[in-house]
Amino acid sequence: MVRTLQHFIGGTWQDAGSTRLEEIPNPATGEVLAVMPHATASMVESAVAAAAGAFPAWRDTPVVERSRIMFRFRQLLEEHFDDVARLVTDENGKTLAEASGEVRRGIEVIEFACGAPTLMMGEVLEDVARGIDAEVVRAPLGVVAGICPFNFPAMIPLWMLPVALACGNAFILKPSDRTPITAVRLAELLETAGLPRGVFNLVHGAKETVDALLTHPGVRAVSFVGSAPVARYVYATAAAHGKRVQALAGAKNYLVVMPDCDLARTTEAILSSAFGNAGERCLAGSVVVVVGEVADRLVAALRDGASHLRVGAGWDSTTELGPVIRRSHLDRVVGYIERGLAEGAELVCDGRGVTDGRGYFLGATLFDRVRPEMAIAQEEIFGPVLAVIRASDLDAAMRLVNRSPFGNMACIFTRSGRDARTFRTRVEAGMVGVNVGVAAPMAFFPFAGWKGSFYGDLHATGKDSVEFYTERRVVTTRWF
Ligand code: NAD
Repeated sequence: MVRTLQHFIGGTWQDAGSTRLEEIPNPATGEVLAVMPHATASMVESAVAAAAGAFPAWRDTPVVERSRIMFRFRQLLEEHFDDVARLVTDENGKTLAEASGEVRRGIEVIEFACGAPTLMMGEVLEDVARGIDAEVVRAPLGVVAGICPFNFPAMIPLWMLPVALACGNAFILKPSDRTPITAVRLAELLETAGLPRGVFNLVHGAKETVDALLTHPGVRAVSFVGSAPVARYVYATAAAHGKRVQALAGAKNYLVVMPDCDLARTTEAILSSAFGNAGERCLAGSVVVVVGEVADRLVAALRDGASHLRVGAGWDSTTELGPVIRRSHLDRVVGYIERGLAEGAELVCDGRGVTDGRGYFLGATLFDRVRPEMAIAQEEIFGPVLAVIRASDLDAAMRLVNRSPFGNMACIFTRSGRDARTFRTRVEAGMVGVNVGVAAPMAFFPFAGWKGSFYGDLHATGKDSVEFYTERRVVTTRWF
């Protein structure tokens, strides 16, 4: 019996009325894990009504009590850590080690949100005029919505909901229509943690469900993470409907390798950046720009490492590279490999053809002598494909990085403090790594994409997220 998922609205699990159903396959086997109903506009209406109804009492709940529920939620996630990680592996395909990593990162955001009593503090200035005091207090917004991508089914909802809830908002989660199962588990754990009915709601679906949220007058703010075209659409549509929006978008991340790098450690970091999570990561290193005479040795080391990565199901502890999310996505990534060949890049490690006929597998793929104008150097592939471009010096390498329309992450590998400093001050990316291949900020820092990788003002996580999920009220007081 394949399970049919349900929406969680007003504290009740329900699916009545969903006419559109979608099968959720396991990317490693093609086997159907669950059936997901798409929420109609009227279900979104019910979710917004439930959230709006629950909001006043939740806003008025002392912040320490809201935090205590987050502490319990955190504890429940620790207790169910392995099952949640396994759900991530089953529906997303990534290895259990990678899934555990993302659950851990998600828990760290809950830990950050547990500090809400401190994070929400305001400011006071006495005697702004004779006998008059002024203060700034933080207030929650009301009903806020989170729309998530498939590549981190646990972590990305957890970038959003702990901070939104701890700050006193009511939340509606719309998980990815490709990985909705983990979100259901998170909702169950929130319910067990004692969150009042209606404060957290979950609706499944895709464009129709998203549109209903973006245009609903009862939704005050929207957090979105996903591809660049959809991020632009979400940002423009939600803003046109008067909402506060943060839209985290796609990426094309460059890793600059200098001739004085530590070759062994650099190679290891690049392999993990490019091929970890099967390349389905907004911080995946996608283009290596190698400077000078180290190029041949680096390409040889990368080819050696890439060709030995073990492809297989995520739950097999020997697997290093899991499947990609869907057969259609596999075909798209293979299409990029064919384009790279047609445009004249040199294929030094070919990951095609490893499929067992059931799972959506692709081995690590490496191109050398890529030119900057090629599609594989410019477009987000979101699969285990790495392109190497050769550059003459650091300036030339940085010009290549900075001409990208994206600006999520850029990394440099060097032993020179001066080159690292030049890079970190001049490179146009919001997350910079120095001898680090995945420069992912921890929960107390913002996830700081720039340029076409982010639309909005306030980023996800860290103090930005507290700013995003609250507004400031200035109170001026005089007592006669
Ligand atoms: P996606 O844009 O296809 O989907 C994201 C969400 O939008 C999903 O919930 C989906 O149901 C919804 N959606 C899809 N099409 C829509 C449409 N036309 N109108 C309204 N809603 C729509 O993204 P994805 O493939 O799930 O995720 C991968 C992308 O997310 C990559 O581009 C990756 O770089 C990006 N990403 C970015 C970050 C970041 O922090 N910048 C983090 C993770 C992933």
